[in-house]
Amino acid sequence: MLSLVCLELPQIASRRMMADADIIILGGGCAGLSLAMRLAELGELAPHTIILEARQQYTNDRTWCFWENNEPSMAFCKALITQRWDKMRVKSNELEVIVNCTQSPYALLPSLAFYDYACGVISRSNRITLLTGSSISSVSQLENSSWSIQTDSQQYTGKTIIDTRLTAKPVRQPFMLWQSFSGVEIECEASVFDMSLVDLMDFHEADTIRTIFTYILPTSPKRGLIEVTIFGVEPVSQAELKSDLERTIKSRVGSVPYRILNTEHGILPMGQPKSIPAEPKSYIRVGLGAGAARPSTGYAFQRIQFWAAACARGLSEGHQLSGHFQDSWLLRTMDNIFLRVIKDRPERAPQLFFDLFKKTDSGSLIRFLSDGGSLREALAIIRALPPLPFLQAGLAAMRETILTAIATISVRLRGRVVR
Ligand SMILES: Cc1cc2nc3c(=O)[nH]c(=O)nc-3n(C[C@H](O)[C@H](O)[C@H](O)COP(=O)(O)OP(=O)(O)OC[C@H]3O[C@@H](n4cnc5c(N)ncnc54)[C@H](O)[C@@H]3O)c2cc1C
Repeated sequence: MLSLVCLELPQIASRRMMADADIIILGGGCAGLSLAMRLAELGELAPHTIILEARQQYTNDRTWCFWENNEPSMAFCKALITQRWDKMRVKSNELEVIVNCTQSPYALLPSLAFYDYACGVISRSNRITLLTGSSISSVSQLENSSWSIQTDSQQYTGKTIIDTRLTAKPVRQPFMLWQSFSGVEIECEASVFDMSLVDLMDFHEADTIRTIFTYILPTSPKRGLIEVTIFGVEPVSQAELKSDLERTIKSRVGSVPYRILNTEHGILPMGQPKSIPAEPKSYIRVGLGAGAARPSTGYAFQRIQFWAAACARGLSEGHQLSGHFQDSWLLRTMDNIFLRVIKDRPERAPQLFFDLFKKTDSGSLIRFLSDGGSLREALAIIRALPPLPFLQAGLAAMRETILTAIATISVRLRGRVVR
């Protein structure tokens, strides 16, 4: 194992068939930094790790929210959370439900606070190196089965690759739906925000093509984040969301003058990709494109923390690094059916979410939204939802599973005959 010192040697040295690092993390965003931070915490047991990140500097580019709980992997977040709410609302023109979440407040963690914290932990380790301003142009496997990474200015070799990049441009397949959103944090000259609650979903007019709603995080009576979100079969660009966002801001603040403090935009895949390409064990894909986000909601921050902490713990116990953990069969099935209903009947989404929030007790609901809950709670959630569309979607999902299984078996049988 060559130490990181070799990075400073002439280029010829770094091209030797030896690894610069045990692990190279491609992309230092949420997943990359979370894993690196956990590895740094292993002290002298930490593997030599390089993180290659394209951006030169971290900015407050996103607002991470989640339902706060006592999960050990989230303990470090307590001090970074800047806002907590104990009520959340789901509404449309005709419907409104407010749910109390005092037990697990909805918490806001500004991304810059996380980046600063993680970079601080990493910088105190002599085994982990974060290289910002390193845009990766190619990755190839070498003869000795280590990996070669080319950035715009350097070449690195590593034994194991953790790839967090959301590589391909968002395309429709293989995910079931896309969650596209665009928001602004604004400061108004008069009070316009109700600080007592978060608007999780304020649905716009019912639409047969897409589900569209506003998300509002009030951080003071004059200040808050207003975001427009679309669930649709095609990703929607920031430019396409502009007019919806402008209309939404206008309807919220009326004629009160405001200034924009921050903007954020995202396109998140919803649903599991239909097929994940088989890759060598030493090349592990993680992050948004590889199952980091909960399929039905797009929430990923807590899941990433859980994965990163478990990976580092596993490594210290002699296990291999791994990708994100699969949800339980029950959660996957429920998410699948839920997404299918929203995809096929977007105009029903307001009523569905209204039923979900109105008829389920808040503890069970939050545990379900945060990837947990018991079978009994899952059944209570299923009972809260209208049976017919879910039955139809369930049957369609079952049909698809059977067809996929038949296709897989027939391909295997054909393979056996040929051999
Ligand atoms: C605006 C926004 C708000 C969100 N809000 C929430 C929320 O409230 N709650 C929640 O749970 N989840 C939320 N998410 C979803 C999820 O938590 C985030 O997207 C999270 O950042 C995903 O982590 P990641 O590591 O997969 O991707 P990223 O954090 O985007 O990290 C990928 C990194 O790879 C780098 N990279 C890409 N290509 C290259 C290259 N060629 N060379 C070098 N580096 C490269 C990028 O610069 C980036 O830093 C939000 C997402 C967005 C976009």
